Amino acid sequence: MKLHIGDEVLVTAGKDKGRRGKIEHVFPKKDRVVVPGVNVYKRHRKGMGGEKGGVSEFSRPLFVASVAFFCTSCNKPTRIVYEVAKTGEKTRVCAKCRREI
Ligand SMILES: [Zn+2]
Repeated sequence: MKLHIGDEVLVTAGKDKGRRGKIEHVFPKKDRVVVPGVNVYKRHRKGMGGEKGGVSEFSRPLFVASVAFFCTSCNKPTRIVYEVAKTGEKTRVCAKCRREI
């Protein structure tokens, strides 16, 4: 899983194709990410007990293959690559401009 929380991504498939957002949550085991405002579905709830019913909106997790990392300095979708320093430390950088992510 190369994508982390806070990464800027471009949606490349699905109903919100072309939209951009920041990752809010990742599910590494499921290969899914949540981007606020993307893949939004409405959930209708009945009022029960003292709770009010109504419609709540929530963002469904997107499959990682449906999003592309978006580099804000290249201003286009790029890939993430790892650079390994002499110390063995790994950093994630943009494949094009080598900017640290
Ligand atoms: Zn870049």
